[in-house]
Amino acid sequence: MALWGTLAITQIGCSDAEVLDNNVEEEQLALNDLNAQISALPQETLSDAEISGLMHLREEEKLAQDVYLFLYQKYGTNIFNNIGQSESTHMAAVGSLIEKYGLTDPVDTNGPGVFENQELQNLYDTLVAQGSESLLAAYRVGATIEDLDLYDLAQMLAQVDNQDITLVYENLSKGSRNHMRSFYGKITGEGATYSAQFIDQALLEAIVNTPKETGSH
Ligand code: MN
Ligand code: MN
Repeated sequence: MALWGTLAITQIGCSDAEVLDNNVEEEQLALNDLNAQISALPQETLSDAEISGLMHLREEEKLAQDVYLFLYQKYGTNIFNNIGQSESTHMAAVGSLIEKYGLTDPVDTNGPGVFENQELQNLYDTLVAQGSESLLAAYRVGATIEDLDLYDLAQMLAQVDNQDITLVYENLSKGSRNHMRSFYGKITGEGATYSAQFIDQALLEAIVNTPKETGSH
């Protein structure tokens, strides 16, 4: 699915509302596709590392979603709405794994900006404050979230052997690489730069110097 690749094209001659509707529709299709693949793969034994990874990532994807929707409300810039919708898909995909394995969902009925993991709660509070300073600061917050997400996903992928979890984490990583490309483009478009804080700088450069990836994410 060439979602991020086609967005710029669909935007020509479309109202913002149509672009947003397209995005929600595409994300829903991507989630349906991912859920079908999750269901089709075997239920394998979960290690402690796999369980704690799922708990952490479910809330980390929620953090991304909640920060981007906060920034969208503040600035009204489509990038935050589009990527926020994508994070909802990521959060739901981790939720599907939690449900498949009968684990307790840390998100439960928590609303926007509320986290069980205190570290993520503190990070949310910090990023929302930073992103409120200016639109450029908000783009930097976006790059920071994707940087951290890519780092955490790589660490977790190294500890995972279940096929369904690997599938989801690889899809989330691909989404994060595309989100990083988008935020990085906005930052450099403002004449500024972003240096990696979590992943290697060489990896960041490799990501932002390659085109957006397509296919189910
Ligand atoms: Mn994500
Ligand atoms: Mn992301």
